[in-house]
Amino acid sequence: MSLVLFNDLTRKKEPFTPLKEGHVSFYSCGPTVYGYIHIGNARPFVVFDVLRRWLEHEGYKVTFVQNFTDIDDKMIHRAHKENTTVRELADKFIGEYFHDADALGIRRADVHPRATDHIPEIISTIEKIIANGHAYVSDGDVYFDIKSWPKYGSLCKQNLEDLEAGARVEPGEKKKDPLDFALWKAEKPGEPSWESPWGKGRPGWHIECSAMSSKYLGENIDIHSGGVDLMFPHHENEVAQSEAASNSGKPFVNYWLHNGFLLIEKEKMSRSLGNVLTAHEAIERYNPLAVRFFLLSAHYRSPINFAPENLEQAAAGVERLRNCRSDLDFAAKTRSGQSEFDVKKFEGELEDLKGKFREAMNDDFNTAAAMGILFDVVYLINTCLKENETLPPEFFTLAKNALNEYDEILGVIGKDDAETENDEESAEIERLIQERAEARKAKNFARSDEIRDSLKARGIVLEDTPQGTKWKREL
Ligand code: AMP
Ligand code: ZN
Repeated sequence: MSLVLFNDLTRKKEPFTPLKEGHVSFYSCGPTVYGYIHIGNARPFVVFDVLRRWLEHEGYKVTFVQNFTDIDDKMIHRAHKENTTVRELADKFIGEYFHDADALGIRRADVHPRATDHIPEIISTIEKIIANGHAYVSDGDVYFDIKSWPKYGSLCKQNLEDLEAGARVEPGEKKKDPLDFALWKAEKPGEPSWESPWGKGRPGWHIECSAMSSKYLGENIDIHSGGVDLMFPHHENEVAQSEAASNSGKPFVNYWLHNGFLLIEKEKMSRSLGNVLTAHEAIERYNPLAVRFFLLSAHYRSPINFAPENLEQAAAGVERLRNCRSDLDFAAKTRSGQSEFDVKKFEGELEDLKGKFREAMNDDFNTAAAMGILFDVVYLINTCLKENETLPPEFFTLAKNALNEYDEILGVIGKDDAETENDEESAEIERLIQERAEARKAKNFARSDEIRDSLKARGIVLEDTPQGTKWKREL
């Protein structure tokens, strides 16, 4: 089965066929950088990171672009409140975004464009829309002319009359129709502004994604993603802007993907409601792998409930995965050798599971099912470890490679303690374990306990087994 994706344009699963064979252009809406991201914001970044990894695993060359919205009303208000500039506020929270995203294993995009670094591109996109007859200037503002765009509503599947009924004109807006939206906003006192053909001002929110996606990915792109709250008006407006600017009759985006909400006590987690757990806090309180595990444990389109016990369960899941790998490493050192073990059979079982994993990932990247299969792999490995005193070196290579391959896509097992064995710290740990073994032999329990406690204080846990002492880092 090859990849199918649920496309919000058609509201059904469709086989994925990129515009250019072997290449995927992928744009994902990024954060507005006026504060820390919360774990709801982190959901699209984590789930679409996995889709990107999966596409690469399947052999595509992916160009992935994710923007930073660094100018809008919220940015301006927050900068005023904190007595700083909008630029400084953005710099700070872009840094914090990368800190959290790196910790959560979210790979960096190929380009992370900032709106305020693309004012010329934004202006030229607006000029094209005006020239094509789909926008008008009104007293220093520029508005998209909805009446000139009959297809409006095609993404969110609402007709113009229904949308009109819900729209209103905000004080100070000088538009012809309540549904018309601002592409450019005339300067207001105390706000950052840039020169433009319509006087000084700043871009509206939606136009940045049209301008920056076309700059880095072209006028027609394969995949565009974001949270479901962005479908209307943000993505609907992007479609109108981009297609009105290109005027080519070709769709701006072929596959629109939206993740469901992260809920807390049945409500959407959102900065405006104030019911947030920041990614920063979550990483401290639990651990980054557990947060990532939790976010991938549901299908990306379903809602997911935040509750402390769900995060604790996720942490236990991560521990089970990590234990399997460290048990494997330890057994490879202590129990590898000549054995009756049927390697061919084991290889076949791994292949079957790999096929199932691939099926799950190709079915609209169902990470929930894919994680279930990873646990089947762990169960298989653990059973082999339990039932066989000695295992051949091929078993260890196959098992370790399988875990690594799954984790290149899901990123929930994390760094391998054993891989750091050559560094100084690991050598010192091994030395202390040796010293502790000698102290125990000499019945010097005070010294052996002291060594165990000092390692524990450094986050290193020892486990005594018939084959010797294992160690692992606590998360
Ligand atoms: P923002 O910085 O508010 O523009 O949001 C960044 C991304 O997070 C967007 O793709 C939003 O759709 C998404 N998002 C915001 N809140 C949630 C939530 N509670 N659950 C899932 N996604 C969310
Ligand atoms: Zn966007």
